Amino acid sequence: MLNKSFYINTIGCQMNVYDSEQIAARLAAMGYQQAGVLEQADLVIVNTCTIRAKAEQKAFSFLGRLAKLKIKRPGLVIGVGGCMAQQEGHKILRRAPHIDLVFGTRAIDRLPLLISKIEDKRCRIVDVAWTETPDGLDTLPERRLDSPVSTFVTVMRGCDNFCTYCVVPHVRGRETSRHPDRIMEEIRGLVQSGAKEVTLLGQNVNSYGKKEGLLSFPELLSRVNTIEGLVRIRFTTSHPKDFGSGLINAFRSNEKVCDHIHLPVQSGSDRILKRMNRKYTKALYLDKIAKLRDTCPGIAITSDIIVGFPGETETDFADTMDLIKTVHFDGLFAFVYSDRPNAPAVQFRNKISEEEKRKRLQTLLKLQEHFTRIKNQALVGSVQPILVEGTSKKQSSGRFNRSQSTGQWTGRTTTNKIVNFYHHDNPQSGVDIYPGKVVYTRIEKAYAHSLWGKPIEVESATGGLKGEKSYAA
Ligand code: SAM
Ligand code: SF4
Repeated sequence: MLNKSFYINTIGCQMNVYDSEQIAARLAAMGYQQAGVLEQADLVIVNTCTIRAKAEQKAFSFLGRLAKLKIKRPGLVIGVGGCMAQQEGHKILRRAPHIDLVFGTRAIDRLPLLISKIEDKRCRIVDVAWTETPDGLDTLPERRLDSPVSTFVTVMRGCDNFCTYCVVPHVRGRETSRHPDRIMEEIRGLVQSGAKEVTLLGQNVNSYGKKEGLLSFPELLSRVNTIEGLVRIRFTTSHPKDFGSGLINAFRSNEKVCDHIHLPVQSGSDRILKRMNRKYTKALYLDKIAKLRDTCPGIAITSDIIVGFPGETETDFADTMDLIKTVHFDGLFAFVYSDRPNAPAVQFRNKISEEEKRKRLQTLLKLQEHFTRIKNQALVGSVQPILVEGTSKKQSSGRFNRSQSTGQWTGRTTTNKIVNFYHHDNPQSGVDIYPGKVVYTRIEKAYAHSLWGKPIEVESATGGLKGEKSYAA
């Protein structure tokens, strides 16, 4: 028994969360245990993000904290992985002498080897090579004893789109899709260990399998839909230029596919979309939204928007505001444009001042808040199947404990809205609540970012709620 422990700090997107699980599985296979707190760990991994400058600052600030820890505990091994590691490579070792290892986005499968070398020789290593062992993408995580209710599975890595603001193709490499058999095997394993919902991840899921001549993404969804015990399927991200009828129909034909799509538009100005290299126009985006709503009337739509892209005029910004007023998104992730190394937009002229970017962001968020409230308010009085994720943040003390089952719970609608509720609101209902259960709740209140509901008896739930009725009792 190794008797050593590890701690992982994950910064960034869902893909990093998935990669951190892969890292944890490999460390567990080496005999490392998960440390309860950072200060007790023998090995600390920081899984970094570089999509915006802010994410990088977050990583360096955490690394600063680790420098102090290493003074107290010189035996501590520190590794930096993820997108910032891929981008900065040797520079990180030069800037931070307390770091032992820098490993890139395609080096996760080599991690055990790299760590063993550092332990044996007390050397410092940088591995940002793009080479991956043939089964690098497909290695399954160690079988988990206890999967979360909702979990991520990466189905493809990298990106071939080269949007001019974006660093992803430069730090994650070209698109590569995993074999559907490996994906199915992994999801089945996760379901066996407790998962009920899976989110399939890729930078542009519409191009899943195309290069390799595998299944199309809608075909993959149909296969995943057959997995017994799996209740819900989500996916992200779909690129509007490739979003078409195949995927629209997949919402209708697969009862486990949730009624939500994240379709990042980035801007409502054709001029800016062209400069971003997005390869669609505002009209085309709106046309696709109309077709989607035609086929799936209740579907929730969320999006990403960048404000203050170089050269964005007041008129361009007004076009974006107009698009928001036309679509009525359920939610938006809005970001101020951030210069990224290697992304072509760094060279673009007419940069927008930080002050102006902030001002536009606030204006946009205020408008969206209005639509989010309307969307949430419209659900008041309706009955929604909620996939219970656990006790709500306020009272959660980590692992699930059945004795907590009379407290405040949290879950999501199929449209991805957070619903909180008290179980003891209706003790006569006989509804036993635990993570992973689908519970019908009547929505009573709508807030800016969540809903408040009350569990109801299954019999009084309206029929025909997509594919989940049989799990509710
Ligand atoms: N592949 C997805 C797509 O095509 O929409 C998104 C991937 S990216 C990890 C997530 C979001 O970050 C993007 O949709 C974009 O809005 C935002 N983003 C990317 N680069 C950015 C930059 N340089 N400045 C500000 N936001 C950025
Ligand atoms: Fe970045 Fe564009 Fe690829 Fe999305 S599609 S990851 S925004 S380059």
